[in-house]
Amino acid sequence: MKWVQISEHVWKCSIWMIIPVNVWLVRSDTGLTLVDAGIPSMAKGLLRQIDRLQMPLERIVLTHGHSDHVGSLKRILETYPVPVYAHETEIPYMEGSMPYPRRKKAEATVQPGIAAPLDMQNRIGGLMPYATPGHSPGHTAYFHEQDRVLLAGDLFTSKRGQLNRPMPMFTADMKQAVESGAIVEQLAPKLVSVCHGGDVVITDPKQQVAAYRSISLARL
Ligand SMILES: [Zn+2]
Ligand SMILES: [Zn+2]
Repeated sequence: MKWVQISEHVWKCSIWMIIPVNVWLVRSDTGLTLVDAGIPSMAKGLLRQIDRLQMPLERIVLTHGHSDHVGSLKRILETYPVPVYAHETEIPYMEGSMPYPRRKKAEATVQPGIAAPLDMQNRIGGLMPYATPGHSPGHTAYFHEQDRVLLAGDLFTSKRGQLNRPMPMFTADMKQAVESGAIVEQLAPKLVSVCHGGDVVITDPKQQVAAYRSISLARL
């Protein structure tokens, strides 16, 4: 497992599990926010890094509830019983009361009652949440305004340093996901960090989003 500080306030933790899986720790004046919880084998390394940063873990926020984003949640909550937040639209899917679109069976990836609905109007741990549906119905990206870093979850993957569409097999509504990618043009981050892939440096948001849209929509 590898840690890289990608901006003043953001650390990225990466592990390889056929594909890369990334999660982030974000430092604010009061403590740390974990964005996504990856796969179960990341728990130990995450706990170690929280210790190393010598700040309290204050909360966990989720981009969405797929199993590769919530895997170490249980272990981390055993050590740090902090609140967990996800978009309210996502919660019934991750709690297993509804099947994710295009999936046959409902499956609880998170124990019901653990995740509380995000307040979409306010910053949380220095991050502004943005609804970016498509990959999953309640998918949320988090923008660190000060560092101009967008933690994009599975809104994108990346390919040769460029924005690339999320994995089709696991994406509920690809057209909607591609439309949600316009957030990059709206926010003009310096860096987009995704869960499954390398970071994408944004130099010309308008052009990069246009290129992404035309390639992705052509493949629909
Ligand atoms: Zn996903
Ligand atoms: Zn994923």
